[in-house]
Amino acid sequence: MGMYRGWNRNIHVMKHILKRAAEMKPSMRCKARTLEEFGRWKTKFKAKLDELMGPFPARVPPNARTIARIQREDDFVEKFIIDVEHDYSVPGYLLLPKDLKKGQKRPAILVCHGHCTGAKDGPAGFVQEPHRETDEYARLMTKQGYITAIIDSRGFGETRLPIETHDNESRCNYLYLLYAMLGYQLHTLNLHDQFQTLDYLLSRDEVDDERVGVLGRSYGGTKSQYVGVYDERVKAVAIVCYLCTTLEYTFEDINNNCGVQFVPGLYQYGDVATVAGLIAPKPLLVQSGFADECFSIDSAAEAHAEIRSIYKAAEAGDRLTIDVFNGKHDFNLPTAYGFFDKWIGPAR
Ligand SMILES: [Zn+2]
Repeated sequence: MGMYRGWNRNIHVMKHILKRAAEMKPSMRCKARTLEEFGRWKTKFKAKLDELMGPFPARVPPNARTIARIQREDDFVEKFIIDVEHDYSVPGYLLLPKDLKKGQKRPAILVCHGHCTGAKDGPAGFVQEPHRETDEYARLMTKQGYITAIIDSRGFGETRLPIETHDNESRCNYLYLLYAMLGYQLHTLNLHDQFQTLDYLLSRDEVDDERVGVLGRSYGGTKSQYVGVYDERVKAVAIVCYLCTTLEYTFEDINNNCGVQFVPGLYQYGDVATVAGLIAPKPLLVQSGFADECFSIDSAAEAHAEIRSIYKAAEAGDRLTIDVFNGKHDFNLPTAYGFFDKWIGPAR
């Protein structure tokens, strides 16, 4: 870029973006100190978020069909298909604990998949050689006694876009553009699909409607965060290896954002933890791996401080668990079991 230096111009577009991002001060971060101030902030910021998320599609009856049922060592798995729009359906799995007795009700967890574990198949335990056992977090929660459900988000798993790209992000970005041209945001549509999955989960006789949680890691953490904000049927929320700062995960070192997980213009008003603050006063577990290769711990620590202060203002500090564990982009089981057992459990 040196050839324009003498003219005092910058034609380096990334330098321009990073400068703007570093200078930006999101205008609606929560400054509340009291419960009353928190309430006022929550109403205002939620209205702004609603505006930024754009339209949600119309809700439809899930019209679920069970396609197949198999028995495994610890659970029964039903493969189902549900309608999420009048002209679009998604496949998913329902995992039922092996010791579930006829007529018995159990708490349930809606599980949201991330990018790297084969969409719904990884968490449900259908990947032949999982990277690590904790990738099977739906199967493991069901082993603890919870009923779990997981679907493929748009563009993942069986709904994968049939286009040639060299990486996942291009696929997400392309799908984002296609829906944007129709007036919808991909992230909003995928959130809507989680509401439809909850409709199905709650329609099951085996599920205790008053004891339902949501859990997701990475991009699944994005979804569990927004389900926690938007769906009152969910009573406990776990966000695993996602909470961080926008400055880092979108702009700086890591460049970890993509078309499936962002809300246009959001950073003018709030950060990742500002949105998570809308979950208060609901019980919330935030897990961050000390050596997470996708969301660095120093960026996570900044987000932890923000969410902690919001929960304090909401007089719900005792409902927030921040778990920094000794691991990478992973899932810390003992704390998650303890969290769900405390707020929607025990499962048995
Ligand atoms: Zn992506």
